[in-house]
Amino acid sequence: MFDFLAKEFSKICPIERNKDLSKVTTFKIGGIAPIYAKPRTRQELIQLLSLCREMNISFVILGAGSNVLINDKIFYVIISTLNLNKFVITKNGLVLSQAGVRLSQLVQESAEKGFSGLEWAIGIPGSVGGAVVMNAGAFHGQISDSLLFVEYWNGEKVIRVKRNELFFEYRSSIFTNTKNCAIISVAFSLKKDFMPLCRERIREKISARVKTQSVGYPSAGSVFKRTKRLPPAFMIEQCNLKGLRVGGAEVSKIHSGYIVNTGNATFTDVLELIDLVRERVFEKYNVYLSLEIILI
Ligand SMILES: Cc1cc2nc3c(=O)[nH]c(=O)nc-3n(C[C@H](O)[C@H](O)[C@H](O)COP(=O)(O)OP(=O)(O)OC[C@H]3O[C@@H](n4cnc5c(N)ncnc54)[C@H](O)[C@@H]3O)c2cc1C
Repeated sequence: MFDFLAKEFSKICPIERNKDLSKVTTFKIGGIAPIYAKPRTRQELIQLLSLCREMNISFVILGAGSNVLINDKIFYVIISTLNLNKFVITKNGLVLSQAGVRLSQLVQESAEKGFSGLEWAIGIPGSVGGAVVMNAGAFHGQISDSLLFVEYWNGEKVIRVKRNELFFEYRSSIFTNTKNCAIISVAFSLKKDFMPLCRERIREKISARVKTQSVGYPSAGSVFKRTKRLPPAFMIEQCNLKGLRVGGAEVSKIHSGYIVNTGNATFTDVLELIDLVRERVFEKYNVYLSLEIILI
């Protein structure tokens, strides 16, 4: 089955067989993908998606793999967006970006051109597509703030949808946990600003991140969503869970909102640790922590 599919996929774009997904996630956890497709153009991506539809194949889209915990026992056909890495910034601050562009690169280049609006995103190790799915945010900014529209495959065809139809909320959008959708490109509108000021804001954010988030091990960032009451990291710390371990997974001793892979953590180790943390926080605070990371 995968041999036939691989042959059909490779007529469209480069693919890798039996790709170790722990190599393409920031958690360094994940099983083997029998097919890992790397479309280089919008057209190749659309051809792949159409083929999957015709053949009724489920797939997982992966950007920079920085917000996912991938089951190491299940086989997935993966479409990586990382070769879809082109963007343009016009003179009046309109940005058109393919889904696989690294956020940090887009932030740096827009600041260098004297456009403000994305500085908060510096240091988030994700792609533009992944950031839209998650409505990524930091330092009181979020990706939906400057977004104009998204062009995406809705399972049948390519459509273009404006921000107000994408139901952005805290760390979620219509794309979160939706199957068979693929963000192809995203448009943003940025504001003209004094370039040294944009640079300065970036520097501040980098140093704030280094102080609080240099956890020293692979992770997927904050595991749990902010709650209406207290920050998850605070509650976890107050429950004395810093350093708690299951197998190779550990509640970071530096940032208790992170779970880190100390070397050989598995999908199950992380899930068991998540359950323990949730249980203890619930006992003490009567708060159920929801996941920010996506389980695949
Ligand atoms: C050290 C560290 C710090 C972090 N800090 C922050 C932070 O400050 N704020 C924050 O919000 N997040 C943070 N994150 C989490 C993560 O970087 C962001 O959520 C990021 O936006 C995810 O992008 P990605 O490309 O890595 O998505 P992935 O992890 O590749 O994918 C995330 C989800 O989006 C889907 N997806 C990805 N691309 C597409 C696409 N083109 N079309 C359809 N679906 C797609 C995937 O299937 C998956 O369900 C951090 C992570 C780490 C490791």
